[in-house]
Amino acid sequence: MRLLVVEDEDVLARSLRAGLEKEGFAVDIAGDGTTGLWLARESAYDAIVLDIMLPGVNGYKVCQELRGEGNWTPILMLTAKAGEWDEAEGLDTGADDYLTKPFSFVVLLARLRALLRRGTAERPTTIAASGVELDPAAQAVTQHGEPVDLTAKEFAVLNFLLRRAGDVVSKTEIVENVWDLAFDGDLNIVEVYVRSLRKKLGPSTIETIRGAGYRFRTES
Ligand code: CA
Repeated sequence: MRLLVVEDEDVLARSLRAGLEKEGFAVDIAGDGTTGLWLARESAYDAIVLDIMLPGVNGYKVCQELRGEGNWTPILMLTAKAGEWDEAEGLDTGADDYLTKPFSFVVLLARLRALLRRGTAERPTTIAASGVELDPAAQAVTQHGEPVDLTAKEFAVLNFLLRRAGDVVSKTEIVENVWDLAFDGDLNIVEVYVRSLRKKLGPSTIETIRGAGYRFRTES
């Protein structure tokens, strides 16, 4: 079993390698995102341990790039502190699991073994309604085959609305799924994103259901 550890903290990277080698894994280390991407493209790994905060290309981006290229090696993400991890963002980029630092080596090993047992993840399928198609792995959206350029948050809001296409979803549900649980700002932030999505996708794609929320139309 061959693992890639992408981690810029030298002491942590070395101790991970020492521990994992003791468990019988072959381990390569990359100290930054660019090297990590390069190694992941060059060799076939059974799993990748990927830090988020990295010099050069960050962990989210590394994950997103690999998934976009059709690389489905299981990825365990490492995050420095609770709250740094944006679950919606992380899962949208295609990570399989994550661990918050500091973590115990035993826990890391257990999570890695679980990922290895599951094997290479299936590419998530695209979701579509009314001619709008969203590819969660490639972070791409098309409308009737034409690419639509969205910001990360617009993408996340659309992702949630499309998954529930045809249903009415409240602003609270959208905020809870797209922003993190610590968000205590104005729910009307959702309106801002719905407005910009309507501008890009057409005014009739997302209906306002007065007093209830929004609905992504399933009929054309
Ligand atoms: Ca780091």
